[in-house]
Amino acid sequence: MTEPKETSFRESVDLMFNRAVALMDLPPGLEEKIRVCNSTYTVRFGVRLRGQIHTFTGYRSVHSEHMEPVKGGIRYAMGVNQDEVEALAALMTYKCALVEAPFGGSKGGLRIDPRDYDEHELELITRRFAYELIKRDLIDPAQNVPAPDMGTGEREMAWIADQYARMNTTDINARACVTGKPLNAGGIAGRVEATGRGVQYALREFFRHPEDMAIAGLTGDLDGKRVIVQGLGNVGYHAASFLRDEDGCKIIGIIERDGALVDARGLDVNAVRDWIAKHKGVKGFPGADYVENGATVLEEACDILIPAALEGVIHRGNAARIKAPLIIEAANGPITAGADDILRDKGVVIIPDMYANAGGVTVSYFEWVKNLSHIRFGRMQRRAEEARTAMLINELERLSADRGLGWTLSPGFKEQYLRGSDELELVRSGLDDTMRTAYQSMRAVWHAREDVKDLRTAAYIVSIGKVAASYRAKGI
Ligand code: NAD
Repeated sequence: MTEPKETSFRESVDLMFNRAVALMDLPPGLEEKIRVCNSTYTVRFGVRLRGQIHTFTGYRSVHSEHMEPVKGGIRYAMGVNQDEVEALAALMTYKCALVEAPFGGSKGGLRIDPRDYDEHELELITRRFAYELIKRDLIDPAQNVPAPDMGTGEREMAWIADQYARMNTTDINARACVTGKPLNAGGIAGRVEATGRGVQYALREFFRHPEDMAIAGLTGDLDGKRVIVQGLGNVGYHAASFLRDEDGCKIIGIIERDGALVDARGLDVNAVRDWIAKHKGVKGFPGADYVENGATVLEEACDILIPAALEGVIHRGNAARIKAPLIIEAANGPITAGADDILRDKGVVIIPDMYANAGGVTVSYFEWVKNLSHIRFGRMQRRAEEARTAMLINELERLSADRGLGWTLSPGFKEQYLRGSDELELVRSGLDDTMRTAYQSMRAVWHAREDVKDLRTAAYIVSIGKVAASYRAKGI
């Protein structure tokens, strides 16, 4: 018997979609309409660098326009190709539906290794790529709003926003054409940390449900849990450092491009991050074991495994050896469809990507709303909130004094209670609420239906149901 072949990322997404729709009662035409990717634009453009013209290939794929604008990151990586961009765009459709961000799904990519270029060159390349997309309405506040992804960040988003503003000088909503911008260029507090923060909130919500923990064979809370993270980039770094510093997790393994670090006592995530920035890799980091073949560390014993780098890292070849009882997919598509089957048979609980890394798009949604409303969150209410709270506290203290009760509030409590919420607190509150609500909608399906065996299928059922409802409401 021949070994079943490993599926591509796109095939994996399709298989997982099919598994879910088989359990739903959708008319076949509608099912197909939701599954297919509406359009993919490929652009090849030249940029003069170092005295000669270099040609680059980029993509922007629109999976579903049941809601507009469509939304999805722009990735800079050598592995970018049409299949990958389309798979990622499809995931964006389902992700937005699951967390109720009112967008269709899109994704973009540029086949480039950003480490090969200096900052000025990257700016020229980014502006030219943005120009190509803007002139085709593939970047537009009302139609298509990109965000950061692998290999891109605030800096690239600021260039894109500026390029759009230059080409649309009278568009008052120009800043809403892209999210993930720096604060001083129309960004929102808490966007950089958002995806990692969302991973933390997702895990906290999981650990609020003993029934779900029992399925993974876990007990207690996050404190002391052993975590292995792959990829200490934007998502992996924030997730790992919040889990370590705020929830007491022990980060016992960090896997990067050039190998992995292992320390059963727990790694100092910030120190590792600084080391990578200086030495371009983890090798040589003092006080921890270095493993050259980093991927083998995915197979080490731990309580929570967080793949936060790239797709397809857990596959048919290593899935059976994975020891973690709980995997949270911080990256998009880190587990192939074949590996997903193997892990499910082993009883591993997988918190799926479309939910686990939805913190980024959730806070992007808040940023887009902020840009359209042209005002920072909390600016109108904060002091009014403080004044009302102070009134209550003063009245309580007055009553206590009048009656000779001698009650006084501890100064720490008073100060904290009296402080109105700033933008960062509001963003975190909105994100926490979103992650809790979305988890509950998935687990309700997971537990209510005998035929739904895992959270991923449940997530697809919830989100496809929402997309189908939108299409039905439009009369399609
Ligand atoms: P990033 O570029 O900031 O970080 C990626 C990290 O992975 C880097 O540190 C890189 O060195 C490391 N890496 C690359 N190849 C590796 C390998 N083979 N083994 C181990 N490590 C490797 O990217 P990011 O924004 O953190 O994105 C990571 C994943 O999260 C991607 O799948 C992305 O689609 C997904 N994601 C990102 C966001 C976001 O807001 N940035 C939102 C949702 C999903």
